[in-house]
Amino acid sequence: MNPIYNFSAGPAVLPREVLQQAQNEMLDWQGCGMSVMEMSHRGKEFMSIIETLENDLRELASIPRNYKILFLQGGASSQFAMVPMNLLRGKKNADYIVTGQWSSKAAQEAQRYCTVNIAASSESASFTYAPKQNTWQINQSAAYLHYTTNETIGGVAFNWTPELSENSDIPLVADMSSDILSRPLDVSRYGLIYAGAQKNLGPAGLVLVIIRDDLAGDALPGTPTLFDYQVHIDNASMYNTPPTYAIYITGLVMKWLKQQGGLAVIEQMNIRKAAILYDLIDNCDFYHCPVVRSDRSRMNIPFTLKNAALDATFLNQTEANGLIQLKGHRSVGGMRASLYNAMPLEGVVRLVEFMQEFADKHG
Ligand SMILES: *Cc1c(COP(=O)(O)O)cnc(C)c1O
Repeated sequence: MNPIYNFSAGPAVLPREVLQQAQNEMLDWQGCGMSVMEMSHRGKEFMSIIETLENDLRELASIPRNYKILFLQGGASSQFAMVPMNLLRGKKNADYIVTGQWSSKAAQEAQRYCTVNIAASSESASFTYAPKQNTWQINQSAAYLHYTTNETIGGVAFNWTPELSENSDIPLVADMSSDILSRPLDVSRYGLIYAGAQKNLGPAGLVLVIIRDDLAGDALPGTPTLFDYQVHIDNASMYNTPPTYAIYITGLVMKWLKQQGGLAVIEQMNIRKAAILYDLIDNCDFYHCPVVRSDRSRMNIPFTLKNAALDATFLNQTEANGLIQLKGHRSVGGMRASLYNAMPLEGVVRLVEFMQEFADKHG
């Protein structure tokens, strides 16, 4: 049977080796006689799983000691509320950069708690670029500045890290749900980073939060206990039962990333995979990607066919050829190929070969 390549935006492809190891350990984790799903989250077996995950992640992303790592639930969407609830710290407003649907949603949710200043937006250009920092209208009294490093639906990425001025103490907050660990990152530039796991880290059900420790501990009055970062810090993500199986699989993904050579090696591979697909799209007038070149995502590549009447044929034939989940987001249509860390190079090569043949035949 030919292999299947899964281009889903999320939940998304996981490394085959990880799934195989999980399969091998499904009934009996390392000779303890239990499945990870059956373990007490406070038992020594699971404690070793979560501690190993934290250590591996800290090592892979060079996370400094004064940053806490939290393993929470509620998806990245819960962070849209949890960020203002915790980071306003007596202030009345926050800045947001809006580059697509996810950052729009984050800004909208924050409006329930504070005055939101849209410091920059590419909405008038249908979210096809990431505004340069010298155009941002930053409010110096903002409690924090939020942006989305990679817009999963529109395929717009910040391929640079904002540099808030030396004498500004506005913490930078980033939703990295769809590109975290796709390249090296400098955590010390951020106050808080969050990411739903189901794009580039592991299965759904887990959301990762990396927070500079001085930012927690001053949540809005009335903040639910489970929405208070300090509670999770004080309880090492065990205030309530954490999503144990998702944590276990994410731990296996960290081991896999280390085996690949770490984030610098993964980045080179991601650059290569994305370049193969963008080259075809740009060199063939049958396909089109609307995003400005410098701001294109390596993770989520949206594209349209010159003739939209062929969309259904394209999707049927890709699927018949083992290239699945290429349909674009329902709000934008067209196609989207997600090339997360776990997408092998061969998958992209197969897709590009198919697309070339399809264009030759129908162009
Ligand atoms: C998927 C996604 C979200 C929402 O994640 P949920 O886990 O469904 O809440 C938020 N931000 C970005 C960038 C995403 O890709």
